[in-house]
Amino acid sequence: MPQKAETITLIGAGLNGPLLALELVKRGFQVEIYERRPDMRRVRMSAGRSINLALSVRGIYALTQAGLWNDMQRIVIPMKGRMMHSAASEITFQPYGRKESDVINSISRAELNIALMNAAEARGVGIHFQKRCVGMDMNNSVIHLQDEITGEERSGTVDVVIGCDGSASAIRGHMLKRSRFDFSQEYLDYGYKELTIPAASGGKHALEANALHIWPRGNYMLIALPNVDGTFACILFLPVEGEDSFEQLSTRELVLEFFESRFPDAIALMPDLVDNFFANPIGSMVTIKCSPWHAEGSALLLGDAAHAIVPFFGQGINCGFEDCTVLVQLLDRHGADWSKVFREFEHARKQNTDAIADLAIENFVEMRDRVGDPRFLFRKKVEFALQEKFPDRFVPKYSMVTFLRVPYAVALERGQAQDRILTALCEGIDRVDELDWAKAEKMIYEQLAPLERS
Ligand SMILES: Cc1cc2nc3c(=O)[nH]c(=O)nc-3n(C[C@H](O)[C@H](O)[C@H](O)COP(=O)(O)OP(=O)(O)OC[C@H]3O[C@@H](n4cnc5c(N)ncnc54)[C@H](O)[C@@H]3O)c2cc1C
Repeated sequence: MPQKAETITLIGAGLNGPLLALELVKRGFQVEIYERRPDMRRVRMSAGRSINLALSVRGIYALTQAGLWNDMQRIVIPMKGRMMHSAASEITFQPYGRKESDVINSISRAELNIALMNAAEARGVGIHFQKRCVGMDMNNSVIHLQDEITGEERSGTVDVVIGCDGSASAIRGHMLKRSRFDFSQEYLDYGYKELTIPAASGGKHALEANALHIWPRGNYMLIALPNVDGTFACILFLPVEGEDSFEQLSTRELVLEFFESRFPDAIALMPDLVDNFFANPIGSMVTIKCSPWHAEGSALLLGDAAHAIVPFFGQGINCGFEDCTVLVQLLDRHGADWSKVFREFEHARKQNTDAIADLAIENFVEMRDRVGDPRFLFRKKVEFALQEKFPDRFVPKYSMVTFLRVPYAVALERGQAQDRILTALCEGIDRVDELDWAKAEKMIYEQLAPLERS
């Protein structure tokens, strides 16, 4: 397969870098990765951005193609639905889908990263830690790397560079200097903080293990994802400033008071809450869109570097891994004609990554605000009933994104059409048995073609 360029240089050994490297090595390329952080297998580091991730079908497909998924079963916990905790500590369960297999999988970010790096190295990928990319001359294909320990800088020519260096991508920073590069970034007014629910006695989970727990409180929320060691990784999402914000939680007393009044059943399980709260930084969340993702055939952006999204659909890495799937499919089709591969890659992905960015923002409102609303819960029931009756045409947006590899842009468009149908059908009724099935059938057959599944 390698024709024009033999060595591919990847910047970033986060989640996408090592997976892509593995796929490239399998196709006969030599791959070197430069990563600014120390090797997390040798140096203990804070998880940085979220301790856990929810993996779903797109991520699983890519890991299966790479031959890694089977081995990962031991480090994932399937979550069958959302476990909602009301302010009065009442618990309700909302399944994610109709089938037993409709689950999302909680996995430790660090374990996943380590498994990917181990697999990549075992196939001959070179990973060079504490080497930060500090510059790139796109016209002459030269990259500049700085040693994070000695500060020494060195430059070298490269055949092809792929920026897998995340939402603050240095490679994208250099693309920005090129003419006609479109770029937008939008921060949420919200931040997030990682917290922990320790294991109960005997290493058991203190809450139901096979669920994603949510404490929705209108303008903010707490979530918890299970770990295999019995702990839960929690994330508190809160406005940065204003009422009920991080800015207000400035003392130990205020934090305790806030949790006691808003999340009484959670605080009972969090003995180290206040220490965790002040030890962990406030993370920010951003949507980044840019174009073009490539500089002719010499450089490409992939994953968060090309399209960072907010985390509320649990799709960031699923989307990044799908990037890897699509890129290697194009390589298999066109060989190492990098200009063509990169052009077609962006053409295939951009509308889909823009769509998941928008869907993720929509889901933010749904998770924090609507999941506790009785009218929303009724719409969910109707949605399930319609799916049951018209399974080829009416497939909930969440299922299309999470359990099927339907292009995100299709999920967005069909989801909007389905929302309109749901609104029309739910108007004036409170029970599923009041549904006007004739009207439902007419609307669905007129507005939704059968869904193509891959
Ligand atoms: C709170 C939160 C929760 C999330 N939950 C989910 C979820 O449930 N499911 C999901 O699918 N996604 C989730 N995501 C998104 C997911 O974390 C990202 O989409 C994913 O990490 C992107 O992978 P990446 O490899 O593109 O970038 P990253 O994982 O950020 O890796 C980039 C790597 O590049 C390195 N790097 C950066 N700059 C340089 C440089 N100049 N030189 C060398 N190396 C460099 C970094 O050190 C890092 O190792 C979540 C994100 C957040 C913030």
